[in-house]
Amino acid sequence: MKQNRLGRTGLTVSHLGFGAMHLPKITQEEANRVMNYALDRGITYIDTAAAYGDSEEKLGHAISHRRTEFVLNTKTNKRTYSEAKQEIENSLRKLKTDYIDIVQIHYVNYVKEYRQAKEPDGAIRAAEEMKNKGYIGHIGITGHRPELLAKWLRDYPFDTVLFHLSMVQPFAAKEMMPTAEELDVGMIAMKPLSGPFLSRVTEAIRYSGSSNAHVILSGMKSIEEVDMNFAALDREVDEAERAELFAMAEGLGEHNCRRCNYCSCPLGIRIPDTLIPSRYRDKFGFLAAGEKLWQDSAAHFAACLAYEPCREKPLCQQACPYHLPIQDEIRRLTEEH
Ligand code: SF4
Ligand code: SF4
Repeated sequence: MKQNRLGRTGLTVSHLGFGAMHLPKITQEEANRVMNYALDRGITYIDTAAAYGDSEEKLGHAISHRRTEFVLNTKTNKRTYSEAKQEIENSLRKLKTDYIDIVQIHYVNYVKEYRQAKEPDGAIRAAEEMKNKGYIGHIGITGHRPELLAKWLRDYPFDTVLFHLSMVQPFAAKEMMPTAEELDVGMIAMKPLSGPFLSRVTEAIRYSGSSNAHVILSGMKSIEEVDMNFAALDREVDEAERAELFAMAEGLGEHNCRRCNYCSCPLGIRIPDTLIPSRYRDKFGFLAAGEKLWQDSAAHFAACLAYEPCREKPLCQQACPYHLPIQDEIRRLTEEH
């Protein structure tokens, strides 16, 4: 497994990172097994968040006795000083450690949230204070709007950035990664399968792995998934393969949905999970879990087209900062399937 320098943190990390967001779905015994197996195989970047259910507790029980073997990242989605300070202190306790390598300000998608986090009584001051006291090493940011992340990297010296990057979500490569590279920010790319969707697993992971991201973060909850991710990244992507993977991605067409979740649907349609992977589904099909999610939304497509409050101006489209023709895409999917 390739080792990378995580930008200006100076930390050395494995190219494949372990995303611990799925630990709440498994038992403590299973978590012990899969996490120790991942460390044994050489994964040295572990990502969790205060918002991921009991992920921090399970992680703490499973591998805190091996704390020197991995770089640990957690996140706070609090925006005020006092709430974030409390949450970081809780994370230290749950993770059974006295030092967290990176704390990221989690899921910042709106300008007003960023401003709040940066205010004198905001979350960033709490992280700075914990850093000055030696409890955390670096401060990062995560979000779903790459062009805003690029601006914020210039506004505050974040050491790391966590963002979506996959065959169906390639936007960060142009809109954010050049800025991160210029500023030597550690780049962690998540969701190579776009959640539970992309069925051509190896190609999907290798597509993300062919980028300049230092860590490809994949959610794992079984030894089989660890092995599968390892196998996909066991050798570097050469130029010829990279061109093939990019051609495959370009063949999926543009949808421009960043998964910012500004939109919501009163009928329960999962709009980003509909827009982002729909062309991929047409060509390659989904993983079983993704297909189930898709069908849950598809059950409401006909009702969407008849929904009175959305006839003139679809509610979701009024909220979308990219002005995407969401209802037209749902119409296309209804007509074609
Ligand atoms: S247009 Fe359809 S998807 Fe959008 S909010 Fe209305 S019902 Fe939901
Ligand atoms: S459809 Fe628009 S508002 Fe909804 S997640 Fe995608 S980009 Fe964001």
